[in-house]
Amino acid sequence: MSDASKGLSLYNTLTRAKERFVPIDPQNVRMYVCGPTVYDFAHIGNARPAIVFDVLFRLLRQLYGEKHVTYVRNITDVDDKINARALRDFGAEIEVGTLSLNDAIRRVTEKTADQYHKDVAALGCLEPTHEPRATEFVAPRADGKADMLSLIAQLIERGHAYVAGGEVLFDTASMPDYGELSKRNLDEQQAGARIAVDVHKKNPGDFVLWKLSTPEEPGWESPWGRGRPGWHIECSAMSAAYLGEIFDIHGGGLDLIFPHHENEIAQSRCAHGTKVMANVWMHNGFLQVEGQKMSKSLGNFYSIHELLETETFGGRKWPGEVLRLAMHYREPIDFSVRKLEEAENTLRKWKRAADLAPAAARDLPAYVLEALSDDLATYTAFQRLTQLAGEAVEFTGAGENAAAASLKAALAFLGFDVGAAKVDETVIAAAIARRLRFIADKNWPEGDRIRDELLAQGVQLKDGKDPVTGQRVTTWEIKR
Ligand SMILES: [Zn+2]
Repeated sequence: MSDASKGLSLYNTLTRAKERFVPIDPQNVRMYVCGPTVYDFAHIGNARPAIVFDVLFRLLRQLYGEKHVTYVRNITDVDDKINARALRDFGAEIEVGTLSLNDAIRRVTEKTADQYHKDVAALGCLEPTHEPRATEFVAPRADGKADMLSLIAQLIERGHAYVAGGEVLFDTASMPDYGELSKRNLDEQQAGARIAVDVHKKNPGDFVLWKLSTPEEPGWESPWGRGRPGWHIECSAMSAAYLGEIFDIHGGGLDLIFPHHENEIAQSRCAHGTKVMANVWMHNGFLQVEGQKMSKSLGNFYSIHELLETETFGGRKWPGEVLRLAMHYREPIDFSVRKLEEAENTLRKWKRAADLAPAAARDLPAYVLEALSDDLATYTAFQRLTQLAGEAVEFTGAGENAAAASLKAALAFLGFDVGAAKVDETVIAAAIARRLRFIADKNWPEGDRIRDELLAQGVQLKDGKDPVTGQRVTTWEIKR
């Protein structure tokens, strides 16, 4: 094992295998993750890559040092969906001429980007090292960083792109191993394509690098006319701008493998003449809601903001870190009220146990680090935390509660707030009242269950009698 590998293994979509991770330069480990298109509230499916790659970012920083990891997550602020949203929301002002379409677009993108930042901060995510916006990387830049127009020109020059029907298109037939990531070959794609609607394309799989804009639409001057970029080219430009022609890790959701990531690879490799774009391609799994694919038509489409700030999901608000705990990496996730309630209970137990130590341990427990280093096995890591919580609660010896201190370190590392666990007195009072009703009904098992549940959260009940009325009175205290 070389020093640079640090025992980290990652599943690589490119090779369909779990591989030992060895960075190109351990002094600067480089990761790119596709960010949001800012036209609407980010949905909970978007929360998943934000959280998963935040955990990986934290892990890389732990292994290689905080100053030796560069994490880039872009913001897509040029897209026809954004234009449509601007027209929908500001159509009247645009019509009467009090607002230009470009200004309306800026209002939409700035508001949505602000909201996204609030959402991911509430989910406990660190800020990426760089967060470039696509519109700043369309035209050649004063600082000489990679830009989309130069990349497109390079692709034309190298015989990988052509101009047709008012567009610049990538010529998929010019790249022998196009389809390597999604394991689709070109013949299959062509056989599967419907009768070519786009008659100007040489091949149905050819995709847009540049398209012309009408005078009203946002556009940039280019050698191919005033227009705007296709979606894929922006990530090729922004990753090259901050991470170079070849970098370590490229991440995103499973749904981005084709066409987005396939096309990023085609553009970057063909423009730079390289054998790879990123060495490791990582994709987080899908997310369902209550057993069904999330869709607007099914009415189970939730934004991060809705879960955090409104009572539309399960009739209550959810803390960001509960959502964070529910998001694993590769497995499909069924997002349900029950799952969030379980996550909330687990987190509460961990925090109470961690609270038994006045300060966090200096080092992350080795077996938590080991679990995460095995392709971000958060399930295993969380099992370890539950074990630690058990040890912390059972600790009776003198001196420091080492399990609690380790647990505290692990929770802080994973992005959970380990300030003092808050005791919610109204919740406890309600549970006590419920238990007294069960006791009045002689339903002892239910009464005991509530007592035990509270005890597991560190709340010990004491039953007594009111000296005047003779009625049962229950008080509580935090068990240390
Ligand atoms: Zn991308």
